[in-house]
Amino acid sequence: MSAQLVVDLGAFADNLARVREVVTPAEMMLVVKDDAYGHGVVEIARRALAQGVRWFGAFDAETGAVVRATVGETARIFIWIAASASEVAAAVAARLDIGVGDPGLLEDVAIAASAASVVARVHLKIDTGLHRNGVRPEMWPEFTARAREWESAGVLEVVGVWSHIAEASDDEDDVARAGFEDALAVARNAGLTPSLRHLAASAASFARPEFRYDLVRVGAFAYGISPAGGPSAGELGIRPIATLRTTVSGLESDGVRVGIGALDGLPSTLAGRIEVGTPAGPRRLRVVDRYESIVDGWPGAGIGQEVVVFGADDDAPRSVTEAGEAIGTIGEEIAVRISPGVTRRYSAT
Ligand SMILES: *Cc1c(COP(=O)(O)O)cnc(C)c1O
Repeated sequence: MSAQLVVDLGAFADNLARVREVVTPAEMMLVVKDDAYGHGVVEIARRALAQGVRWFGAFDAETGAVVRATVGETARIFIWIAASASEVAAAVAARLDIGVGDPGLLEDVAIAASAASVVARVHLKIDTGLHRNGVRPEMWPEFTARAREWESAGVLEVVGVWSHIAEASDDEDDVARAGFEDALAVARNAGLTPSLRHLAASAASFARPEFRYDLVRVGAFAYGISPAGGPSAGELGIRPIATLRTTVSGLESDGVRVGIGALDGLPSTLAGRIEVGTPAGPRRLRVVDRYESIVDGWPGAGIGQEVVVFGADDDAPRSVTEAGEAIGTIGEEIAVRISPGVTRRYSAT
């Protein structure tokens, strides 16, 4: 067997329930960018829909269309990157909610909606300090006034105002939230009536109730990925949902070869920094080669025996968050790097 990522959809459902319990009465948008953080967007979206999730955050129009085909018309799908007029047209055609953080994009959406004779749903993005595709406060009055003009013309509806925050320091986030409040007031002055205000991702949606507003955009915590150096999964009431497994592929004089390597997305910097689960207990990961890796041996090691690199399992010495911490990064970074060539399997315990 080559490497497999086994995703526990039952654990995923539990995490969704936990997130919703924490953030209610705000709604949860499940963020499914980067192939649902490496877990496989189609299976993840299907299960989330079955659990009652009605908002998906799909990043781009292509992912949005995949989610639309998977979940049908009952759910709302939000995208926030559209780089070309053809992507905007695709987003309008798939009835996606479009995050607009750029005056040029607002014009593109209006033109595409008018060409398709539909009313596009847009969420205007204010830049509250991250400088990642949002409209600067000094441009905001003109931007919201222009959006109101298009709304009056009947080609779009401003359903939301949103921003993205760093979630790295409470003080900076508080400043961002004050900017967000100002932007909401300006939007209302322009005659807009957005019913969906959204600011928080996983961390703030749990730790800072005043950041929840109407909708929270949650990725990491739904997948059981806790923040590096922050509260543990157990403290948050979530658990990891994915386990990366492989098997022994060869016995060497100095260790055991296992069937996962750098080309499968295992960071080579993990060599020497983590232990993996073996039938004899945790063993050091010594070398990460292109196709295979070498682990410290154990008595009775044999080809085909299972090895757990990280994961949700009791056999796994490490979670994906801890693997990330071992090389100074976040769990999401490890999860999204697992190559699409690694088979995803789904279980529902
Ligand atoms: C990725 C992303 C999120 C989700 O962040 P998590 O920390 O994984 O919950 C929310 N909003 C935006 C705009 C994002 O890009």
